[in-house]
Amino acid sequence: MRLSTGKSRFIRVRCEDCNNEQIVFDYPSTTVKCVVCGRTLILPTGGKGMIKTEIIEVLE
Ligand SMILES: [Zn+2]
Repeated sequence: MRLSTGKSRFIRVRCEDCNNEQIVFDYPSTTVKCVVCGRTLILPTGGKGMIKTEIIEVLE
């Protein structure tokens, strides 16, 4: 059985401020910001990042 929890992965998110979509790593070591407007998208926690915006798709 393959569990998806606890694994790092890439996710597609949409910036809630400018609607830019970008693909990001969900275990970031630094704050992930929107490349267009600079809004914070994911905060680092030392593990799975705290996602502060809308997730559109999870990429395996
Ligand atoms: Zn943005």
